[in-house]
Amino acid sequence: MSHVMNTYARLPVTFSHGQGCRITDTDGKEYLDALAGIAVSTLGHAHPKLVAAIAAQAGRMLHTSNLYRIREQELLADKLCSLSGMQEVFFGNSGAEANEAAIKLARFYGHKQGIELPTIIVMEKSFHGRTMATLSATGNYKVQVGFEPLVAGFVRVPFGDLDAIKAVAEHNRNIVAVMFEIIQGEGGIHLVDPAYYRGVREVCDSHNWLMICDEVQCGMGRTGKWFGYQTAGVQPDIATLAKGLGSGVPIGACMTGGKAAGLFGPGNHGSTFGGNPLVSTAALTTIEVMEEEGLLDNAARIGALIRQLFGEALAGIKGVKDIRGHGLMIGVELDRPCGELVGKALAAGLLINVTADTVVRFLPPLIFSENDARELVDRTAPLIKEFLAG
Ligand SMILES: *Cc1c(COP(=O)(O)O)cnc(C)c1O
Repeated sequence: MSHVMNTYARLPVTFSHGQGCRITDTDGKEYLDALAGIAVSTLGHAHPKLVAAIAAQAGRMLHTSNLYRIREQELLADKLCSLSGMQEVFFGNSGAEANEAAIKLARFYGHKQGIELPTIIVMEKSFHGRTMATLSATGNYKVQVGFEPLVAGFVRVPFGDLDAIKAVAEHNRNIVAVMFEIIQGEGGIHLVDPAYYRGVREVCDSHNWLMICDEVQCGMGRTGKWFGYQTAGVQPDIATLAKGLGSGVPIGACMTGGKAAGLFGPGNHGSTFGGNPLVSTAALTTIEVMEEEGLLDNAARIGALIRQLFGEALAGIKGVKDIRGHGLMIGVELDRPCGELVGKALAAGLLINVTADTVVRFLPPLIFSENDARELVDRTAPLIKEFLAG
Protein backbone atom coordinates (compact mmCIF):
# COMPACT_ATOMS: atom_id res chain seq x y z
CA MET A 1 0.00 0.00 0.00
CA SER A 2 1.26 3.44 -0.88
CA HIS A 3 1.84 6.08 1.77
CA VAL A 4 1.37 8.79 -0.84
CA MET A 5 -1.90 10.59 -0.19
CA ASN A 6 -4.59 9.47 -2.56
CA THR A 7 -5.20 12.79 -4.32
CA TYR A 8 -4.76 11.51 -7.89
CA ALA A 9 -6.23 8.49 -9.72
CA ARG A 10 -2.73 7.50 -10.80
CA LEU A 11 -2.13 5.31 -13.84
CA PRO A 12 -0.18 2.12 -13.07
CA VAL A 13 3.08 3.20 -14.68
CA THR A 14 6.35 4.70 -13.40
CA PHE A 15 8.84 6.40 -15.68
CA SER A 16 12.55 6.15 -15.16
CA HIS A 17 14.06 8.50 -17.75
CA GLY A 18 13.38 10.50 -20.87
CA GLN A 19 15.10 12.02 -23.88
CA GLY A 20 13.53 14.73 -26.01
CA CYS A 21 9.87 13.83 -26.61
CA ARG A 22 10.35 10.16 -25.59
CA ILE A 23 10.03 8.84 -22.07
CA THR A 24 10.77 5.31 -20.82
CA ASP A 25 9.07 3.37 -18.03
CA THR A 26 10.68 1.09 -15.45
CA ASP A 27 10.01 -1.96 -17.69
CA GLY A 28 11.93 -0.34 -20.54
CA LYS A 29 8.85 0.49 -22.64
CA GLU A 30 9.10 3.77 -24.58
CA TYR A 31 6.30 6.34 -24.98
CA LEU A 32 5.78 9.39 -27.18
CA ASP A 33 5.13 12.28 -24.80
CA ALA A 34 2.30 14.47 -26.13
CA LEU A 35 1.42 15.86 -22.68
CA ALA A 36 4.73 17.21 -21.33
CA GLY A 37 3.60 16.61 -17.74
CA ILE A 38 0.59 18.90 -18.41
CA ALA A 39 2.32 21.70 -20.36
CA VAL A 40 5.41 21.67 -18.15
CA SER A 41 8.31 20.04 -20.03
CA THR A 42 8.81 22.88 -22.52
CA LEU A 43 12.18 21.57 -23.71
CA GLY A 44 11.20 17.90 -23.49
CA HIS A 45 13.26 15.60 -21.30
CA ALA A 46 16.96 15.86 -20.45
CA HIS A 47 17.71 18.81 -22.72
CA PRO A 48 21.54 18.94 -22.53
CA LYS A 49 21.74 22.70 -22.13
CA LEU A 50 19.17 22.77 -19.31
CA VAL A 51 20.80 19.79 -17.58
CA ALA A 52 24.20 21.50 -17.70
CA ALA A 53 22.85 24.85 -16.45
CA ILE A 54 21.02 23.23 -13.52
CA ALA A 55 24.05 21.11 -12.59
CA ALA A 56 26.37 24.12 -12.75
CA GLN A 57 24.02 26.22 -10.60
CA ALA A 58 23.67 23.38 -8.09
CA GLY A 59 27.46 23.27 -7.91
CA ARG A 60 27.62 26.98 -7.10
CA MET A 61 24.58 27.46 -4.82
CA LEU A 62 20.97 26.24 -4.66
CA HIS A 63 19.36 28.72 -2.33
CA THR A 64 19.99 31.92 -0.46
CA SER A 65 16.85 33.81 0.58
CA ASN A 66 14.69 36.67 -0.59
CA LEU A 67 16.21 38.55 2.35
CA TYR A 68 19.08 39.15 -0.09
CA ARG A 69 19.32 40.18 -3.72
CA ILE A 70 19.38 37.21 -6.11
CA ARG A 71 21.19 37.87 -9.36
CA GLU A 72 19.55 35.05 -11.36
CA GLN A 73 16.08 36.18 -10.21
CA GLU A 74 16.79 39.77 -11.26
CA LEU A 75 17.97 38.61 -14.70
CA LEU A 76 14.86 36.45 -15.09
CA ALA A 77 12.56 39.32 -14.09
CA ASP A 78 14.28 41.58 -16.65
CA LYS A 79 13.89 38.96 -19.34
CA LEU A 80 10.23 38.22 -18.56
CA CYS A 81 9.39 41.93 -18.56
CA SER A 82 11.06 42.50 -21.91
CA LEU A 83 9.10 39.58 -23.42
CA SER A 84 5.77 40.43 -21.76
CA GLY A 85 5.60 44.22 -21.72
CA MET A 86 5.24 44.07 -17.93
CA GLN A 87 7.17 46.02 -15.28
CA GLU A 88 7.58 43.85 -12.17
CA VAL A 89 7.60 40.15 -11.29
CA PHE A 90 6.91 38.28 -8.04
CA PHE A 91 8.22 34.70 -7.96
CA GLY A 92 6.49 31.78 -6.24
CA ASN A 93 6.61 28.04 -6.77
CA SER A 94 3.43 27.12 -8.63
CA GLY A 95 0.49 28.34 -10.64
CA ALA A 96 -1.78 28.51 -7.63
CA GLU A 97 0.72 30.69 -5.78
CA ALA A 98 1.12 32.97 -8.78
CA ASN A 99 -2.67 33.38 -8.85
CA GLU A 100 -2.83 33.94 -5.07
CA ALA A 101 -0.43 36.84 -5.60
CA ALA A 102 -2.67 38.18 -8.39
CA ILE A 103 -5.78 37.95 -6.20
CA LYS A 104 -4.02 39.67 -3.30
CA LEU A 105 -2.83 42.43 -5.64
CA ALA A 106 -6.38 43.00 -6.90
CA ARG A 107 -7.76 43.23 -3.35
CA PHE A 108 -4.94 45.57 -2.31
CA TYR A 109 -5.65 47.73 -5.35
CA GLY A 110 -9.31 47.92 -4.33
CA HIS A 111 -8.61 48.79 -0.70
CA LYS A 112 -6.32 51.62 -1.81
CA GLN A 113 -9.37 53.13 -3.50
CA GLY A 114 -11.56 52.67 -0.42
CA ILE A 115 -13.43 49.61 -1.73
CA GLU A 116 -14.07 47.52 1.38
CA LEU A 117 -15.21 44.30 -0.27
CA PRO A 118 -13.09 44.09 -3.42
CA THR A 119 -14.60 41.58 -5.82
CA ILE A 120 -13.11 39.86 -8.87
CA ILE A 121 -15.12 38.74 -11.90
CA VAL A 122 -14.16 35.15 -12.85
CA MET A 123 -15.36 32.73 -15.53
CA GLU A 124 -17.41 29.58 -15.77
CA LYS A 125 -15.25 26.52 -16.64
CA SER A 126 -12.09 28.31 -15.49
CA PHE A 127 -9.26 26.72 -13.53
CA HIS A 128 -6.95 28.72 -11.27
CA GLY A 129 -5.57 26.19 -8.76
CA ARG A 130 -6.25 24.18 -5.60
CA THR A 131 -5.50 26.61 -2.76
CA MET A 132 -8.52 28.11 -0.98
CA ALA A 133 -8.61 31.39 -2.91
CA THR A 134 -7.78 29.85 -6.28
CA LEU A 135 -10.29 27.00 -5.94
CA SER A 136 -12.89 29.61 -5.03
CA ALA A 137 -12.02 31.47 -8.24
CA THR A 138 -12.18 28.24 -10.25
CA GLY A 139 -15.36 27.63 -12.25
CA ASN A 140 -15.70 23.93 -11.49
CA TYR A 141 -17.94 22.68 -8.69
CA LYS A 142 -15.94 19.42 -8.38
CA VAL A 143 -12.88 21.38 -7.25
CA GLN A 144 -14.88 23.21 -4.55
CA VAL A 145 -17.29 20.66 -3.09
CA GLY A 146 -16.39 19.63 0.44
CA PHE A 147 -14.15 22.63 1.02
CA GLU A 148 -16.75 25.26 1.82
CA PRO A 149 -16.85 27.95 3.05
CA LEU A 150 -15.30 29.28 -0.11
CA VAL A 151 -13.27 32.47 -0.13
CA ALA A 152 -15.62 35.41 -0.77
CA GLY A 153 -15.08 38.14 -3.30
CA PHE A 154 -15.67 36.43 -6.65
CA VAL A 155 -18.60 36.72 -9.06
CA ARG A 156 -18.89 34.36 -11.99
CA VAL A 157 -19.94 34.99 -15.59
CA PRO A 158 -19.94 32.80 -18.74
CA PHE A 159 -16.62 32.93 -20.64
CA GLY A 160 -16.91 34.88 -23.89
CA ASP A 161 -19.97 36.88 -22.84
CA LEU A 162 -19.00 40.56 -22.70
CA ASP A 163 -22.54 41.69 -21.95
CA ALA A 164 -22.51 39.56 -18.78
CA ILE A 165 -19.46 41.51 -17.56
CA LYS A 166 -21.10 44.81 -18.43
CA ALA A 167 -24.24 43.76 -16.55
CA VAL A 168 -22.18 43.06 -13.39
CA ALA A 169 -20.52 46.47 -13.79
CA GLU A 170 -23.91 48.16 -13.65
CA HIS A 171 -25.00 46.90 -10.26
CA ASN A 172 -21.79 45.91 -8.44
CA ARG A 173 -19.61 48.80 -7.23
CA ASN A 174 -17.09 46.46 -5.57
CA ILE A 175 -15.54 45.04 -8.74
CA VAL A 176 -11.77 45.57 -8.94
CA ALA A 177 -10.66 43.10 -11.61
CA VAL A 178 -11.56 40.52 -14.26
CA MET A 179 -9.54 37.31 -14.11
CA PHE A 180 -9.54 34.72 -16.89
CA GLU A 181 -7.51 32.38 -19.09
CA ILE A 182 -7.11 33.48 -22.73
CA ILE A 183 -7.50 29.78 -23.59
CA GLN A 184 -9.21 27.72 -20.90
CA GLY A 185 -7.04 24.63 -20.43
CA GLU A 186 -8.57 22.35 -17.79
CA GLY A 187 -12.04 23.54 -18.87
CA GLY A 188 -11.58 21.86 -22.27
CA ILE A 189 -9.37 24.06 -24.55
CA HIS A 190 -11.93 26.83 -24.98
CA LEU A 191 -11.01 29.88 -27.04
CA VAL A 192 -13.29 32.78 -27.83
CA ASP A 193 -13.37 35.50 -30.49
CA PRO A 194 -10.38 37.91 -30.08
CA ALA A 195 -12.91 40.77 -30.04
CA TYR A 196 -13.98 39.52 -26.60
CA TYR A 197 -10.51 39.98 -25.10
CA ARG A 198 -10.30 43.50 -26.51
CA GLY A 199 -13.78 44.18 -25.16
CA VAL A 200 -12.74 43.03 -21.68
CA ARG A 201 -9.72 45.34 -21.87
CA GLU A 202 -12.01 48.27 -22.73
CA VAL A 203 -14.44 47.51 -19.92
CA CYS A 204 -11.52 47.23 -17.46
CA ASP A 205 -10.15 50.56 -18.63
CA SER A 206 -13.45 52.39 -18.46
CA HIS A 207 -14.14 51.13 -14.89
CA ASN A 208 -10.55 51.35 -13.66
CA TRP A 209 -10.44 47.57 -13.07
CA LEU A 210 -7.39 45.34 -13.41
CA MET A 211 -7.29 42.81 -16.22
CA ILE A 212 -5.70 39.58 -14.94
CA CYS A 213 -4.68 36.85 -17.38
CA ASP A 214 -3.95 33.42 -15.94
CA GLU A 215 -1.25 32.29 -18.37
CA VAL A 216 -0.19 29.29 -16.30
CA GLN A 217 -1.12 26.86 -19.08
CA CYS A 218 -1.33 28.95 -22.27
CA GLY A 219 1.75 31.10 -21.57
CA MET A 220 5.46 30.46 -22.19
CA GLY A 221 5.30 29.97 -25.95
CA ARG A 222 2.64 27.29 -26.09
CA THR A 223 0.36 29.31 -28.41
CA GLY A 224 3.21 30.33 -30.70
CA LYS A 225 3.57 33.69 -28.92
CA TRP A 226 5.30 34.13 -25.56
CA PHE A 227 1.97 34.78 -23.88
CA GLY A 228 -1.60 33.95 -24.85
CA TYR A 229 -2.70 37.57 -24.56
CA GLN A 230 -0.27 38.47 -27.33
CA THR A 231 -2.28 36.29 -29.72
CA ALA A 232 -5.31 38.38 -28.81
CA GLY A 233 -3.59 41.75 -29.14
CA VAL A 234 -4.27 42.87 -25.57
CA GLN A 235 -2.01 43.79 -22.66
CA PRO A 236 -3.26 42.78 -19.17
CA ASP A 237 -2.31 44.53 -15.93
CA ILE A 238 -1.40 41.22 -14.29
CA ALA A 239 -0.35 37.91 -15.88
CA THR A 240 0.54 34.73 -14.04
CA LEU A 241 2.92 31.96 -15.14
CA ALA A 242 4.11 28.58 -13.90
CA LYS A 243 3.90 25.17 -15.69
CA GLY A 244 6.26 25.60 -18.69
CA LEU A 245 8.35 28.40 -17.16
CA GLY A 246 11.06 26.15 -15.72
CA SER A 247 10.63 23.20 -18.10
CA GLY A 248 10.04 20.89 -15.11
CA VAL A 249 11.70 22.84 -12.32
CA PRO A 250 8.93 24.27 -10.08
CA ILE A 251 8.63 28.03 -10.47
CA GLY A 252 5.66 30.39 -10.73
CA ALA A 253 5.54 34.09 -11.50
CA CYS A 254 3.07 36.94 -11.13
CA MET A 255 3.89 39.80 -13.51
CA THR A 256 2.44 43.28 -13.15
CA GLY A 257 2.30 46.35 -15.36
CA GLY A 258 0.17 49.43 -15.83
CA LYS A 259 -2.12 50.17 -12.88
CA ALA A 260 -0.95 47.02 -11.05
CA ALA A 261 2.75 47.88 -10.98
CA GLY A 262 4.26 49.20 -7.78
CA LEU A 263 1.37 48.16 -5.52
CA PHE A 264 3.25 45.86 -3.17
CA GLY A 265 6.01 46.96 -0.83
CA PRO A 266 8.10 45.06 1.74
CA GLY A 267 5.88 42.92 3.98
CA ASN A 268 2.89 42.69 1.63
CA HIS A 269 3.78 39.31 0.16
CA GLY A 270 6.52 36.72 0.22
CA SER A 271 7.83 33.22 -0.45
CA THR A 272 10.76 31.37 1.09
CA PHE A 273 11.75 29.45 -2.04
CA GLY A 274 10.32 31.82 -4.67
CA GLY A 275 12.77 32.62 -7.45
CA ASN A 276 15.79 31.04 -5.76
CA PRO A 277 19.04 30.74 -7.73
CA LEU A 278 18.32 27.17 -8.91
CA VAL A 279 14.81 27.69 -10.28
CA SER A 280 15.60 31.11 -11.74
CA THR A 281 18.55 29.61 -13.63
CA ALA A 282 16.29 26.83 -14.97
CA ALA A 283 13.73 29.37 -16.20
CA LEU A 284 16.37 31.67 -17.72
CA THR A 285 17.92 28.73 -19.55
CA THR A 286 14.50 27.51 -20.72
CA ILE A 287 13.82 30.93 -22.28
CA GLU A 288 17.32 31.06 -23.80
CA VAL A 289 16.88 27.65 -25.46
CA MET A 290 13.37 28.60 -26.65
CA GLU A 291 14.91 31.59 -28.45
CA GLU A 292 17.93 29.69 -29.82
CA GLU A 293 15.82 26.84 -31.17
CA GLY A 294 12.95 28.95 -32.51
CA LEU A 295 10.41 27.12 -30.37
CA LEU A 296 7.66 29.75 -30.67
CA ASP A 297 7.55 29.32 -34.43
CA ASN A 298 7.80 25.58 -33.95
CA ALA A 299 4.81 25.56 -31.60
CA ALA A 300 2.72 27.54 -34.09
CA ARG A 301 3.77 25.41 -37.08
CA ILE A 302 3.57 21.96 -35.47
CA GLY A 303 0.33 22.84 -33.68
CA ALA A 304 -1.30 23.83 -36.97
CA LEU A 305 0.00 20.62 -38.56
CA ILE A 306 -1.42 18.44 -35.77
CA ARG A 307 -4.85 20.09 -36.06
CA GLN A 308 -4.75 19.72 -39.85
CA LEU A 309 -3.73 16.05 -39.65
CA PHE A 310 -6.42 15.27 -37.07
CA GLY A 311 -8.90 17.10 -39.28
CA GLU A 312 -7.99 14.79 -42.17
CA ALA A 313 -7.76 11.59 -40.12
CA LEU A 314 -11.06 12.16 -38.32
CA ALA A 315 -13.02 13.74 -41.22
CA GLY A 316 -16.62 12.55 -41.30
CA ILE A 317 -16.24 10.44 -38.15
CA LYS A 318 -19.46 10.57 -36.17
CA GLY A 319 -18.81 11.50 -32.55
CA VAL A 320 -15.98 13.97 -33.24
CA LYS A 321 -17.51 17.32 -32.36
CA ASP A 322 -14.59 19.70 -32.74
CA ILE A 323 -10.84 19.94 -33.27
CA ARG A 324 -9.50 23.18 -31.85
CA GLY A 325 -6.65 24.97 -30.16
CA HIS A 326 -3.84 27.40 -30.68
CA GLY A 327 -0.23 26.32 -31.23
CA LEU A 328 0.58 23.28 -29.11
CA MET A 329 -2.53 23.54 -26.94
CA ILE A 330 -4.93 21.24 -28.74
CA GLY A 331 -8.27 19.62 -27.95
CA VAL A 332 -10.32 17.06 -29.84
CA GLU A 333 -13.84 17.17 -28.43
CA LEU A 334 -15.94 14.02 -28.64
CA ASP A 335 -19.68 13.63 -28.12
CA ARG A 336 -19.23 11.44 -25.01
CA PRO A 337 -17.01 10.99 -21.94
CA CYS A 338 -13.72 9.47 -23.14
CA GLY A 339 -11.46 9.16 -20.09
CA GLU A 340 -10.75 5.54 -20.95
CA LEU A 341 -8.79 6.73 -24.02
CA VAL A 342 -5.94 7.76 -21.72
CA GLY A 343 -5.33 4.15 -20.63
CA LYS A 344 -5.69 2.83 -24.19
CA ALA A 345 -3.15 5.39 -25.39
CA LEU A 346 -0.79 4.51 -22.56
CA ALA A 347 -0.95 0.84 -23.54
CA ALA A 348 -0.13 1.92 -27.10
CA GLY A 349 2.89 3.94 -25.91
CA LEU A 350 1.35 7.42 -26.07
CA LEU A 351 1.01 10.01 -23.30
CA ILE A 352 -2.13 12.06 -23.84
CA ASN A 353 -4.85 13.40 -21.55
CA VAL A 354 -8.60 13.88 -21.36
CA THR A 355 -10.05 16.96 -19.68
CA ALA A 356 -13.61 18.16 -19.02
CA ASP A 357 -14.71 14.51 -19.56
CA THR A 358 -15.05 14.74 -23.36
CA VAL A 359 -11.98 16.57 -24.64
CA VAL A 360 -8.85 14.66 -25.69
CA ARG A 361 -6.05 17.08 -24.88
CA PHE A 362 -2.55 17.37 -26.37
CA LEU A 363 0.09 19.61 -24.76
CA PRO A 364 3.36 18.31 -26.20
CA PRO A 365 6.84 19.68 -25.47
CA LEU A 366 7.55 22.74 -27.64
CA ILE A 367 10.39 20.79 -29.32
CA PHE A 368 7.81 18.43 -30.92
CA SER A 369 8.97 17.72 -34.50
CA GLU A 370 7.02 17.19 -37.70
CA ASN A 371 7.74 13.46 -37.45
CA ASP A 372 6.51 13.42 -33.84
CA ALA A 373 3.32 15.18 -35.00
CA ARG A 374 2.71 12.67 -37.79
CA GLU A 375 3.37 9.76 -35.47
CA LEU A 376 1.04 11.20 -32.83
CA VAL A 377 -1.88 11.57 -35.25
CA ASP A 378 -1.18 8.29 -37.08
CA ARG A 379 -1.31 6.41 -33.79
CA THR A 380 -3.98 8.38 -31.89
CA ALA A 381 -6.63 8.80 -34.59
CA PRO A 382 -7.26 5.02 -34.89
CA LEU A 383 -7.67 4.81 -31.09
CA ILE A 384 -10.29 7.58 -31.19
CA LYS A 385 -12.10 5.94 -34.13
CA GLU A 386 -12.07 2.54 -32.44
CA PHE A 387 -13.38 4.07 -29.21
CA LEU A 388 -16.21 5.87 -30.99
CA ALA A 389 -17.13 2.73 -32.94
CA GLY A 390 -17.12 0.54 -29.82
C1 LIG B 1 -2.38 24.18 -13.79
C2 LIG B 1 -3.03 25.50 -13.70
C3 LIG B 1 -3.05 26.23 -12.50
C4 LIG B 1 -2.50 25.67 -11.20
O1 LIG B 1 -1.13 25.49 -11.24
P1 LIG B 1 -0.41 24.63 -10.06
O2 LIG B 1 1.05 24.76 -10.40
O3 LIG B 1 -0.92 23.24 -10.17
O4 LIG B 1 -0.76 25.27 -8.78
C5 LIG B 1 -3.61 27.49 -12.51
N1 LIG B 1 -4.14 28.01 -13.63
C6 LIG B 1 -4.15 27.34 -14.80
C7 LIG B 1 -4.72 27.98 -16.01
C8 LIG B 1 -3.61 26.06 -14.87
O5 LIG B 1 -3.65 25.38 -16.02
